[in-house]
Amino acid sequence: MTLVVAIIFAAIILSTGLEIYLERRQLASVAAHKDVVPAAFAGELTLDEHRRAADYTSARTRLAMAEKAFGGVVTLLWLAVFLGPAYELVARFVSPGLSRSVALVVFIAAIGYVLDLPFTIVRTFRLESKFGFNRMTPGMFLRDQLKGIALQLVLAIPLLYGFFALQHAIPHLWWLLGWAGFMLVMLAMIVIYPAFIAPLFNKFTPMPQTPLKAHIEALLAKWGFESKGLFVMDASTRSTHGNAYFSGLGKAKRIVFFDTLLQKHSEEEILSILAHELGHYKYGHVKERIAEMAVLTFLGFAVLYWAFAGGIAQAFGLPDDPGLVLIIILFAMGPIGQLLSPFTNFLSRRAEFQADGFAKSMLGPQPMISALTRLSRDNLATLTPDWLYTLFYYSHPPVPERIAHLESA
Ligand SMILES: [Zn+2]
Repeated sequence: MTLVVAIIFAAIILSTGLEIYLERRQLASVAAHKDVVPAAFAGELTLDEHRRAADYTSARTRLAMAEKAFGGVVTLLWLAVFLGPAYELVARFVSPGLSRSVALVVFIAAIGYVLDLPFTIVRTFRLESKFGFNRMTPGMFLRDQLKGIALQLVLAIPLLYGFFALQHAIPHLWWLLGWAGFMLVMLAMIVIYPAFIAPLFNKFTPMPQTPLKAHIEALLAKWGFESKGLFVMDASTRSTHGNAYFSGLGKAKRIVFFDTLLQKHSEEEILSILAHELGHYKYGHVKERIAEMAVLTFLGFAVLYWAFAGGIAQAFGLPDDPGLVLIIILFAMGPIGQLLSPFTNFLSRRAEFQADGFAKSMLGPQPMISALTRLSRDNLATLTPDWLYTLFYYSHPPVPERIAHLESA
């Protein structure tokens, strides 16, 4: 078991080091190409716009680097020093049993939230504001944070109680049942999230009856899509970044456009973005994502079972409380998630190419190309990312690759 302890510490150090290395590569790649607009975009983008995108990407990357380095140190400190005292503090107020384990996990998550808050504030009010994206006021930010905390408590506390109770009651099969329960909750969220959670933060209004809507409905009918409606989300109250998405399964699916997207794009571009979202549906990407999550969380629960059987808390010199075991394993899973990210992001990028392909087959390549060009100009996305960084962190292929794919035969 001391070997496992050593492996966990080494994995956290190596993984933090890898993250910083990848971010440094990204910074270097953006800086190296800062002064020349990539040839394919020469007519579309001014040098000023290109430089501004480089500055924005660099600022975001530098902040992420600081956040990850800080997070790595905090995780090591928890494991090496502070988990024991935190447990003693909670034990002073909560008697042994399920409640103590739940309280411990909530307490440590709360401290993690507070430690991360300065980064969120700097990102929103310094960085996003500096580049003209942020529209959020401090009051709105505070309301969002409070709602987010309340929501997480309402969801997490019953789940944690259920988890620890199951683990206590069914010694050998709890992890399988826990996994099945977790998947059921995730599936329920696909329906619950758009109907009850997203409206806590944003307003969703049915799309007004405009020629654009008529055009969209005609295309939906022509391509044989059924949906629960077209909605516009007031994204512009928080940020000027534009997007569209598709949510729900089966008959509960709805198509949501950010108001920022509708304001900035031509009708043709909006239709191509719609076609892209429908492509995700056509190719069954939502189901693919669910299957992927089922496999990964199955492995996660198997690791939890092993950890709960193996006395990992004692190996760290801590009492054998299930709350402590869960926290240790969640910390240890960070590096595993990072190692898996090239694989999960590969699947995601492949799905994006397929959705682009669908948009191309419906409307030809040009509307999507001009939508992507405008999106990357408006969102200040870098056109010259580092390939290795892309492999680990890009859920969408870089725009130059998407355009090349659209242009290919
Ligand atoms: Zn997509």
